[in-house]
Amino acid sequence: MIIDIHTHLFGKGWIPKEFFYGVARFITYEFRKQGIHETNEAVGDGLIESNDDAQAESLLSEMDEAGITMSVLLPVDFGLVLGDTEVSIDEVNRLHAELARKHPDRLIAFAGIDPRRAHAVDLFKKCVQEWGMKGLKLHPTTGFYPNQKEVYPLLEKACEWKIPVLIHSGSMMVPLRSKYSQPIYFDDLGADFPDLPVIAAHSGGIFGYQQMLSVMTTKLNILADISAWQLTAVKNYPMFCRALRDLMDFAGCERIYFGSDSPSFRSFMSNKDWVQMIKDLPGSAPDGIHFKEEEVSAVLGGNAQKLLNL
Ligand SMILES: [Zn+2]
Repeated sequence: MIIDIHTHLFGKGWIPKEFFYGVARFITYEFRKQGIHETNEAVGDGLIESNDDAQAESLLSEMDEAGITMSVLLPVDFGLVLGDTEVSIDEVNRLHAELARKHPDRLIAFAGIDPRRAHAVDLFKKCVQEWGMKGLKLHPTTGFYPNQKEVYPLLEKACEWKIPVLIHSGSMMVPLRSKYSQPIYFDDLGADFPDLPVIAAHSGGIFGYQQMLSVMTTKLNILADISAWQLTAVKNYPMFCRALRDLMDFAGCERIYFGSDSPSFRSFMSNKDWVQMIKDLPGSAPDGIHFKEEEVSAVLGGNAQKLLNL
């Protein structure tokens, strides 16, 4: 069973436009090299249109094509810093939960809440106890540290309910801030919540995974996903293989999870190709780096199956 532990769904009015304008900067930057001049707003508005997938139709067909059985949906709450959205964060969470209920064999929804919201704990309770959400997603790059006092009441609830927490780690595009999501802040979550499964999304990033490993080697509840590593896998395959091997050797293969961050990299690399790339590791890794079939199948789904009790 292949499980993608890191996906997003965007419906109209679910996410502040500023987020897409930030993403658009990468595209306009590349365009400029080709002599094409577009504004971030024009490209961002195009992204909002093309990423509109409120019923998860694109995601489900992408999963079918890639052979992915289940995906974890991660709502993101950027409202406090980028401005509140047309659809409230409570409603965005409820809509994610509804999709998971509609497709119980395909979709699992985590709650996405900025812990600084006055009603954060109440909303989290509603998400889990009324709407059946199975975990929590945090995006510290909006301006809080994962080990900040406002976060702890949510983490205490996650401990009580025995559900995992997935937290963005590593760098992040404008207008969001990378200093908040550096690996060192995960260390306190190991010290203070040693039994809470905390998934460091993106493993600290390809340039931060070693710092994440320095936390993971002593804090055994910190886990990691490899979403967004598609870029490195294509640009520098040996570097990707080395980094993944390091994670498996020093944290343990059982703590690493497959993820795509869909739809973020859809136009760059299909999930079908991304899954295939992981499957091919035992035969394709460069000299001196070896992967076993059983390691690949654990990362692709076995580990997530255990974590999420599937
Ligand atoms: Zn993501």
